[in-house]
Amino acid sequence: MAEGHGGGPPVIGVDLGGTKIMAGVVAADHKILGRGKRNTPAKEGAEAILKTMLDCIDEALAEARLSRSDVAAAGVGSPGPLDADAGVILYSANMNVKNFALGPDLSKALGVPVKVNNDVRVGGYGEFMLGAARGYSDVIAAFVGTGIGGCLIQGGRIVGGSTNNAGEIGHVVVKAGGPRCGCGSKGCMEALASKTAISNRLVKASKKRDCPLGEKIQRKGRLKSGDLAEAVRNKDEVAVREVERAAFYLGTGLGGLVNVFGPQIVVIGGGVTQALGQPYLDMVTEAARRQIITDPNRTIKFVLATLGDDAGVLGASLFAREMLAHG
Ligand SMILES: [Zn+2]
Repeated sequence: MAEGHGGGPPVIGVDLGGTKIMAGVVAADHKILGRGKRNTPAKEGAEAILKTMLDCIDEALAEARLSRSDVAAAGVGSPGPLDADAGVILYSANMNVKNFALGPDLSKALGVPVKVNNDVRVGGYGEFMLGAARGYSDVIAAFVGTGIGGCLIQGGRIVGGSTNNAGEIGHVVVKAGGPRCGCGSKGCMEALASKTAISNRLVKASKKRDCPLGEKIQRKGRLKSGDLAEAVRNKDEVAVREVERAAFYLGTGLGGLVNVFGPQIVVIGGGVTQALGQPYLDMVTEAARRQIITDPNRTIKFVLATLGDDAGVLGASLFAREMLAHG
C-alpha cells in the first residue's frame, strides 16, 4: 500500500448527494490528494448510483496517481434513513433506491472495508475534527440547504440517541401550526428556514408584487443559493425580507437547542449559509441570542463552517480511518 502523508495509507471519502457525487482520496494528514465529481443518476436506481460512484472514485484515484489497491478503506456520507451498521440506505426522498446495500456492494467492488453514515453527520464530524469546531468537545452543527440537517456532538462524541437517529434539528417546530414540512409535520425549522422554504415564499410573493427573484425561480425551476445572495446584494426587497425571516426562524430554533444542549460553539454551514455569509450569520446569531437564557456572558460562539463542499468527503474519510483504527 502507498503510504499517505503523515503515515498510514490513504482512504477514500465519498459525499453522496441527491444531485451530485463527490469523491476524494484522502491522505493520513487529511490532505485531499485527488477528487472526482459526477451527477447522481438519482432516478436510475441503486446499480447506476454504485457504478457512477465507482467512476467518481476512479477519477479521484487517477488524479492522485493511485489505484484501488493503494487505499485501505472507504467512507460514504449518504442521505437516509440508513441502517448505518449494515451500510444500507433504507430509502431516500431524492434517490430512487430502497434497501440499497451500498456499504457491502461498494466494499465488494473496491476490496476494502466501507463505512456508510448519515450525510449531515459526516459533514458535522468533518467540521468538528478538521474545520470550524476543531478543538471543541460540545458542538451543534447546522447545515442549511434544500433542507436543514444537523449534527450534535457532546463530550467529543456524536449524539445518536437510543435510535441512532438523533440530531434531526431541521424538524424542531419553531412555529406551531406553521407551513407544512416535508416530514408531514407543520412549522418545522426546515419548513421556515430552508432554501425550499425561502423559494416557496418568493414564488408566492412574485404573484402579488414585483419580485424578480421569484420570477427567476419559476423560469429556472429552482432557487440557486448564488441567485439568492445576488438578490440580497442588489437589495431586492422581497429577497431581503425573506432571508431575514428565514434567519429569524433558524436562530430561534438554534437558540432553543443551545438552551438544551449547552454547546461551546454552533457551526452553521450549507449552501445557503455559504452564499449569504457573515451578514446572514449575524442575523441568525441575533435571533438565537434572544432565546438563549443559559449563556449570560455570551461565551457560546456562532461561526460559519469552514470546510465548504469538502466537509462531506473529509468527514467520510474520517469515519473510514476510524473504522480501520478500531478494527
Ligand atoms: Zn419537518
